[in-house]
Amino acid sequence: MADELAMIEAAGADWLHVDVMDGVFVPNLSFGVKVIETVRTLTTLPLDVHLMTVEPEKYFDSFAKAGANGLTIHVETAPHLHRQLMRIKELGCVAGATMNPSTSLESVREVAGDLDLLLIMSVNPGFGGQQFIGHAIDKIRRARQLLDAARSNAMLEVDGGISRDTIRQCHEAGADTFVAGNAIFSAADPAAEITALRNRCVLEPA
Ligand code: ZN
Repeated sequence: MADELAMIEAAGADWLHVDVMDGVFVPNLSFGVKVIETVRTLTTLPLDVHLMTVEPEKYFDSFAKAGANGLTIHVETAPHLHRQLMRIKELGCVAGATMNPSTSLESVREVAGDLDLLLIMSVNPGFGGQQFIGHAIDKIRRARQLLDAARSNAMLEVDGGISRDTIRQCHEAGADTFVAGNAIFSAADPAAEITALRNRCVLEPA
């Protein structure tokens, strides 16, 4: 992990996105607080922690203490979304919300002004290496409108299946923050891949 973190950092990633899976809300198990603590000692990159867990509020304090810079929770597991977002902010973290591809954006409309980050899932959460779900593009577009209507400065992030083939459309639809896993980790030259992904948003002609 130390080698991979050093590679990501050297390759010019802005953040490190960490998927926390509890084996209940999503079928897989992944990292817990201990791993975040270790990652914190190995990198200075901001840690963008995506909590794919039931009762995420149980972990807010320990993840914040472990060094998370942002905590993103699923509306499906957050019946008191406003209170939960406020608690994340109190802990000094970027407060993010997300939802499964099948869940409506309306689930965040009432808290749009309170969000620091809105994450659009372009795959069903729980596994890496999945294919991008095409109708996420329209959801990103609608998310952009929703945030703009709320005069929100929240980051609009996309997670799942981001590659050279999908990132430009997401950017054009209004996203400004991108999570890439497979595209970078399976690349022969991860640094070149990160540059290529960035260039797909800003430099290359359509
Ligand atoms: Zn994620």
